[in-house]
Amino acid sequence: MTSSYITTTIPYVNARPHLGFALELVQADVLARYRRDLNEQVRLQAGTDDNSLKNVLAAQAAGIGVQEFVDANAAAFLGLAEPLSLSIDDLIRTSSDPRHRAGVERLWRACAASGDLYRRHYEGLYCVGCEQFYPAAELAAGRCPEHGTVPDLVSEENWFFRLSRYAGRLRGLIADDTIRIQPAERRNEVLALIDAGLADFSVSRDVERARGWGIPVPDDPGQVIYVWWDALGNYLTALDYAAGGENLGRWWTGASRRIHLLGKGVLRFHAVYWPAMLLSAGEAVPTDIVVHGYLTENGRKISKSGGAPGAISTVDPYDLAGRYGTDAVRWWLLREAPRGADTDFTVDRLVARANDELANGFGNLVNRVVSMIHRYYDGLAPATPAPALEAPALGAPALDAAIADAPGLIAEALEDFDFRRATEAVWRIADEANRYVNHARPWDLAKAGDHAGLAAVLSRLLRACQAAGEHLRPFLPDAAARITRQCTPDPAGHLPPPVTLLPRLSPPVRAGHDQRKS
Ligand SMILES: [Zn+2]
Repeated sequence: MTSSYITTTIPYVNARPHLGFALELVQADVLARYRRDLNEQVRLQAGTDDNSLKNVLAAQAAGIGVQEFVDANAAAFLGLAEPLSLSIDDLIRTSSDPRHRAGVERLWRACAASGDLYRRHYEGLYCVGCEQFYPAAELAAGRCPEHGTVPDLVSEENWFFRLSRYAGRLRGLIADDTIRIQPAERRNEVLALIDAGLADFSVSRDVERARGWGIPVPDDPGQVIYVWWDALGNYLTALDYAAGGENLGRWWTGASRRIHLLGKGVLRFHAVYWPAMLLSAGEAVPTDIVVHGYLTENGRKISKSGGAPGAISTVDPYDLAGRYGTDAVRWWLLREAPRGADTDFTVDRLVARANDELANGFGNLVNRVVSMIHRYYDGLAPATPAPALEAPALGAPALDAAIADAPGLIAEALEDFDFRRATEAVWRIADEANRYVNHARPWDLAKAGDHAGLAAVLSRLLRACQAAGEHLRPFLPDAAARITRQCTPDPAGHLPPPVTLLPRLSPPVRAGHDQRKS
């Protein structure tokens, strides 16, 4: 049986979550739900990265103890499952989950046993925002390309990982798609990075510079394990890697797919460092590395941590889901973020998309169809007519094709991790069905007493509504359930009375300035 282990990255908990991270969570949730619906075995894994120096600095700036600070923010991340309707199977927190530290220690010892860890003195430019050293050539006018801040000059004795040793094997695994990196431009970027030469990287920090926060290096308490080493390890530690138990065999070694979702800014860590660590430790490598772009606001990356010159606002997924509903937020993220590329978020765009396609599209369609069935048949769902009495042909072939094509198109699009194309296939059903209502004019058939024609049109439309409800399920689980309930006859064949399933949303009210800016 096909089994998939699907992971999201684990965000730093230096602040509350923003909408940019919701994109990755929702994409991962769609994949998990879709594959579960196909009766595949799925484990959706998420968590938080607590052991970062930037968490420590943020806690200090807030005047709160580090554990208390990360606990509060981690809760806000893990709580996103509710407003976003996420079907996460397991969450790991790197500072408090007993599976994690023991697993990271095992991973360290496994790489040490392979001869891949050694100590040396190091001097470099370190961006705390990124938690990484930057070669001068990768800085933009001396500043971090992600944060726009000037990195710190750090000079210390660290443990290093022999990344250079794995360049050849890594290149081969990526070139032959054993590790499939999507979209293709990201794959090419990684191959170019490998071809430019892979230097060994520092995998520990002086305990003092780390402010004593993090996981100590086994047998070297003066050093703390580099937060990225620790964080990447979560994909294994959450499977009880330390104990080497059943979960590890089932979801890592034995899984058909090991799928990591991530943003383009952390590609190197996931596509270079992580597979090399796994090779060193003698573990299987991921099968899929799926890279999404950033959400921007006025062209700037939405970020929980500022730093770049100019204000970066926080777009709070809790606020948005509370105000506009889970369905509208999920739909916007899935419909508007182009595969692998950035997209600009505004509340107006979210509201417009929800009104055009959810309220006026799916919602209006189901409402019209169920209302007409109540008006003309007292709610009794018309039986599917014999082929000889097929509904008026005008517009019907396009609707029938939209329904018939949807499963294949969705499967193909999701195999490419193209959520926009996948939702487009479902949207087409509603769009064609609404067009068909206007062509077939069931109210005219009723007036003319064409009972066979009316039954044929309405039964075809009801089938379209049911198909929309079915195919929406991975994308909008809440709305899909409401549509399915509304369109499923009771044992006596009656449909529930029509209710508003997807309300029209009001655009945000502005009082002088944009209230979303914090
Ligand atoms: Zn940075």
